[in-house]
Amino acid sequence: MPLSKENIFDLLSGIPDPEIPVITIQELGVLRKVELTSDGCEVTITPTYTGCPAMQMIEDQIREILRDNGILNVSVKMTYSPAWTTDWLSAEAKDKLRKYGIAPPLSSMDTVAFIQCPHCSSFNTEIISDFGSTSCKGLYRCNDCKEAFDYFKTH
Ligand SMILES: [Zn+2]
Repeated sequence: MPLSKENIFDLLSGIPDPEIPVITIQELGVLRKVELTSDGCEVTITPTYTGCPAMQMIEDQIREILRDNGILNVSVKMTYSPAWTTDWLSAEAKDKLRKYGIAPPLSSMDTVAFIQCPHCSSFNTEIISDFGSTSCKGLYRCNDCKEAFDYFKTH
């Protein structure tokens, strides 16, 4: 039986983000849409931070999973409109980030920008560098537990 676009969306929903493997591209809001074409399918994704090298890895994984499921003719379309924002992260995804040791992005609606330590929940934190392990993250240190941690920047 051929796969429906819902089946395909479900298959692709499980792809982990290459940089943060605890959350999926669906939870991140990168996976937008699947459409069937006459002999394959078209997958629409929205890049997170412009130039994030992870996007090529995500595209490769999409093609690989679909090939394993017998769909060879795949086009992966990037859409920049509406632009991706960290507000698309679900509450669950933010919770997973925190457990993974990354401070989740603040909502763009937040006017007070206190970054909470993912280890001890202290707000007594300071920025060390605006660029952490990747350009998507900033590096912070907690003044209470003295741990350094990444902050997933609001975008
Ligand atoms: Zn702490």
